[in-house]
Amino acid sequence: MNRKVKTKILATVGPATDSVEALSALINAGVDAFRLNFSHGNPEYFTKLYENIEKVFAEKKIEIPIIQDLQGPKIRIGKMQEEGIEIKSGDTIEITTEDVDGTKEKISTSYKQLSKDITIGNAILINDGLIRLEVKEINDDSIICKIIEGGKLFSRKGMNLPGANISAPSLTDRDIENLEFALKHRVDYIALSYVRHPDDIFGLKQWLKAKGIEIPIIAKIEKPEGVDNFESIMKAADGIMLARGDLGVELAPQLVPIIQKNIIRRCNAVGKLVITATQMLESMVSHPVSTRAEASDIANAVFDGTDVVMLSEETSIGKYAVEAVSVMNRIVLVAESQSQFKHEIKFETPEDFLSNVLDATGRAYAKISDQMNLRAISVFTHTGREAEILAKYRPNAPIYAFSDNHKTVLKMKLYHGVYSYRLPDLRDYEIAVNGSLLTLKKEGLVQPGDLVIFVAGEPKNRNSRESWIRYLYVD
Ligand code: PEP
Repeated sequence: MNRKVKTKILATVGPATDSVEALSALINAGVDAFRLNFSHGNPEYFTKLYENIEKVFAEKKIEIPIIQDLQGPKIRIGKMQEEGIEIKSGDTIEITTEDVDGTKEKISTSYKQLSKDITIGNAILINDGLIRLEVKEINDDSIICKIIEGGKLFSRKGMNLPGANISAPSLTDRDIENLEFALKHRVDYIALSYVRHPDDIFGLKQWLKAKGIEIPIIAKIEKPEGVDNFESIMKAADGIMLARGDLGVELAPQLVPIIQKNIIRRCNAVGKLVITATQMLESMVSHPVSTRAEASDIANAVFDGTDVVMLSEETSIGKYAVEAVSVMNRIVLVAESQSQFKHEIKFETPEDFLSNVLDATGRAYAKISDQMNLRAISVFTHTGREAEILAKYRPNAPIYAFSDNHKTVLKMKLYHGVYSYRLPDLRDYEIAVNGSLLTLKKEGLVQPGDLVIFVAGEPKNRNSRESWIRYLYVD
C-alpha cells in the first residue's frame, strides 16, 4: 500500500472491532498497529481475538505490530450492588478493602495498600475524576471520605489518588500473568502503565532477559512521578506514551498540553518513539463526525512532532470505529502537508563513538535526501536502529526499511515515515539493492526516473564503523 501519512495510527481493539471483518476494515482504513488493552477482557477473550487477528493477517498477507498494554497498578472500586447508585456532595462514604458489594455508604477496593499510601486531606478521584472525595479518616482496612463532588457509581471504575505515593510496583502479578499469556501468541511492543521510575522499565527488561526475550517497552507517562523522572525514564524505555487520560486526572488538565509539548520535544531531540494517546476523537465513540476541537488536537499533536496518534474507546467500543480511523487519517494528512507549522527540533546526539557515527550518518542521509529531492531512502537494517535514526531526522522522502529480521520489520512499522519490508538476506548489498528495488517497484513506490538512495552500515569493532551508500536512478 502506498501510504501517504508519515504519522502512524495506533488503534485499540475491543468489542466493537474484535471480529475478522472489523479488524480487516481497520487495516484498510489506515491503522498501522493494534493495541490490546489488558485492563479489560480475560484469556478466553484474548485467545479468540488473537485467532481473529491471525486470520486477518493470513487473509491480507500483511502483519502489523501488536502492542500489549499492561494494566499496571490501576486501582479500581469493586463491584456495586446496583449500577449507577448516586452519591451526593457533602455526604460521607467509606472505602473498604473487604470484598463487599458497594452501596452509597460503603464501596470496596481490592487495593490492600490504600490506607498506607494516602494521608488525611488527599483527594480520591473516581471514574476519571467525575467523582471527587477527600480523605477524612484512615483505618487499617478502610478509610472514611467526604464526598466533594458526587455522581453515579458503576462497578470497577478507576480510582486515582493524585498526590499519594502508590507503593504497588508498576509490573503487577496480574501483568506478569497477562504477559506470559500474550507471549504464547504475539507481542511486538509492551506498554507499561503508571511508570514512575526508570527501574520500572529495567525490572521488566530483566524479566524478559531472563526468559531470553527482547521486546521494546513503551513507558506510559500518566503519574506526576513519571513526569518528574521523565528524562531517565525516556533513556531506559524504547518509547513513550503520553497517556493523557490518567495524566489529566492525576495532574490538572491545563498542564496536559504543556507536558505533551515538552515530552514530544525531548523524544524528537533524542529520536525516541512517542505516542500521543487518549480522547483524540472521543466524540466519535457515539457520533459519526468529529468536533472541530478534536481535529485541532490531532493536527497539533502532528505539529508538535508526535510519531504516533492513538485511538482508544473510539475503536474499542465506539459506534464509528472505522470512520474514526478515516477521519484521523484525513486530519493527519492535511496537518503533515503544512510544513510551516513543523517545529524546529533541537537534536541531541549520543556521546559514545559507535552511536554517534550512526547518528551523524543518519542525519547526513536525511540531509542528502532533502537536498537531492529524492523519491525514497531505502535502508538495510538488522536491528532497526538505522531506520529509527533516519526517522529522527525527518527527511521529506519516505524511508523504506528492509530487514532480515521479522521482529524488526514489525517494530519499525510504528516509526515516523518508515515503511518496512522483509528481505531474507542483507549480507550482500548488491543482492539487497536488487531485492529491495523489486519490492519498491512491485508496490508502486518508485517510478522509472526516480532518484533513490540505498544505505546501510555496520560496526566493525569497538572503534570503527562502516557506512555504505548507493545513489540510483530507477530504470
Ligand atoms: C490513558 O490514561 O490515557 C491511557 C492510555 O491509559 P489506559 O487507557 O490504559 O487507562
